[in-house]
Amino acid sequence: MEPKQLKVGWRTFTLNFKWRPAKDSLGSIHQEKSVIRVARSLQGIRRAEVTLHELLHSVFHVWSINQHMGGDDSKEEAVVEALGHALVTTMKDNPEFWQWLLTEVQKGESEAVQKEGPSVGPVPKGGDGN
Ligand SMILES: [Zn+2]
Repeated sequence: MEPKQLKVGWRTFTLNFKWRPAKDSLGSIHQEKSVIRVARSLQGIRRAEVTLHELLHSVFHVWSINQHMGGDDSKEEAVVEALGHALVTTMKDNPEFWQWLLTEVQKGESEAVQKEGPSVGPVPKGGDGN
């Protein structure tokens, strides 16, 4: 069963895996409507790659990553494409690692503070109404 929603920082995206793209697109994200669409023809690792790709676009938006790259929006697609492939490849090659990482994340902040672990990074900016 596919997930229906994806929480990305302060945003919640609706996931649509039944999308019939008009062009040869495989995935899309509508930042203002908070919708991620993935072509219904995709399955398995290709579906995972495209879904992760769109998730990464939402991460760029929510954490204002383009601003950290000098406000250059033109680099987003190339960076998202490379990161998506890299992450899916490391998931495919190291499933036990990723399961371990998820287990550690699910232990939550209290244990992280207890062990005085490193920060998990900046908290995304609060809601701007979008
Ligand atoms: Zn893209």
